[in-house]
Amino acid sequence: MSVKKLEKKLFGTNGVRGVTGVDMTPDLALSIGMAFGSMRKGRIAVGRDTRTSGPALSSAVAAGLLSTGCDVVDCGVLPTPALQFLVRERFDGGVMITASHNPPEYNGIKVIEPDGTEMGDVETVALEQRVFSKDFTSADWDGVGEEERAPGAAEEYVRAVVSRFEPGIGKGITVVADPGCGAAARTTARILSRLGCRVLTINALEDGTFPGRMPEPSIEGLSALADLVRSTGAAFGVAHDGDADRAVFVDETGTYVEENKEFALVERYICAKKKGAVVTPVSSSLLIETVARDAGCSVVYTPVGSIYVARTMIDLIAKGTPVVFGGEGNGGLIFPDHQFCRDGGMTAAMMVAILAGKNQPLSALVAELPVFHLIKDKRRVNDPGSLVKKVQDAFPGDNLDLTDGVRINRGQTWALIRQSGPEPLVRVMVESDSKKKAEALYNEIMLFFRE
Ligand code: MG
Repeated sequence: MSVKKLEKKLFGTNGVRGVTGVDMTPDLALSIGMAFGSMRKGRIAVGRDTRTSGPALSSAVAAGLLSTGCDVVDCGVLPTPALQFLVRERFDGGVMITASHNPPEYNGIKVIEPDGTEMGDVETVALEQRVFSKDFTSADWDGVGEEERAPGAAEEYVRAVVSRFEPGIGKGITVVADPGCGAAARTTARILSRLGCRVLTINALEDGTFPGRMPEPSIEGLSALADLVRSTGAAFGVAHDGDADRAVFVDETGTYVEENKEFALVERYICAKKKGAVVTPVSSSLLIETVARDAGCSVVYTPVGSIYVARTMIDLIAKGTPVVFGGEGNGGLIFPDHQFCRDGGMTAAMMVAILAGKNQPLSALVAELPVFHLIKDKRRVNDPGSLVKKVQDAFPGDNLDLTDGVRINRGQTWALIRQSGPEPLVRVMVESDSKKKAEALYNEIMLFFRE
């Protein structure tokens, strides 16, 4: 089972994104605020990451919400998962101003439902229609909303994350945190030090020009973090994207921990304690399925996008299936006991729990994981719409999964062929426990494209 994708015009998989002043303007933010306010009533929390355009856009969203009669609580700068947590606890909805990992000139808007999840496709399409047709409900003079500020909002999230762990679990562990001058500058170092860790930071000032590194925590951008980890003898380094829903790691030698391996380490830790389903997109490594199976757990696949993972987790639980863990192979991990969204602060804390009381360093834990070989490629095609049908015809004898694009499953070898974004581009992923088998299937797929 899985949640189905719907075509959206304005919103992508993770909200609206665009270049500030070009396609991401206060006009658009105002319209989205008015549209969302026309669909909902009550108190709406508004938050933002550290981008320079954040105050202008969040003021515009707030103006739209207020004009339709919603009350607005301005939570200021905080991570997306912090806003999502606060909304679930005590608001009727939320709006987050962030462009996540995109460069500084971008910004974006994510709409949050009362349960703390990102707005689903059906509701988002309805919201888009209101924006396009300017279908807004304006309040009268005595019905407009009231605005208040909640500068301590991030602290509530920090306390909630810390409360999930044994007090002092991080004692004796040195950690370097790199929030990349983004929203986690308010939270991650506080979380880690309250767990008992000795915490050093880099790029820890809130700065929307991102002077230290780009908001995407890429291997190249994390060289300063890796150096500091090595020179201080830290157990690991953790870095976030601009809004800190994702966390990535370098081990004690400064080596980047590939994100599917990061997923697998957390998964192994959780699945040793609890049994149930692990939910992840069809693009995730077979490593995730292997670790689940070895621990007596199962994997449920979804379309690509964290919102589909979160919604599938909620649906499964509602139908009585226990779900222990979920997320994507990009450092965006979802802890269902905590909340149903990717949570970078929680992921950083979880790494402390994994290492606590262990004699092995992080690099040794990574080295224990089974190895898979991945090939990634892109192909330009004329008619991506008919691709699924063509792949079905070309691989008739195979076990095909049509959750998102086509996934060809051949035991310990699989391939995913899917359209991504508005361009006529098709992404190809092939993975296997054998390098030879991965190359063979990749060559078969390339032959198919040539024909
Ligand atoms: Mg993000």
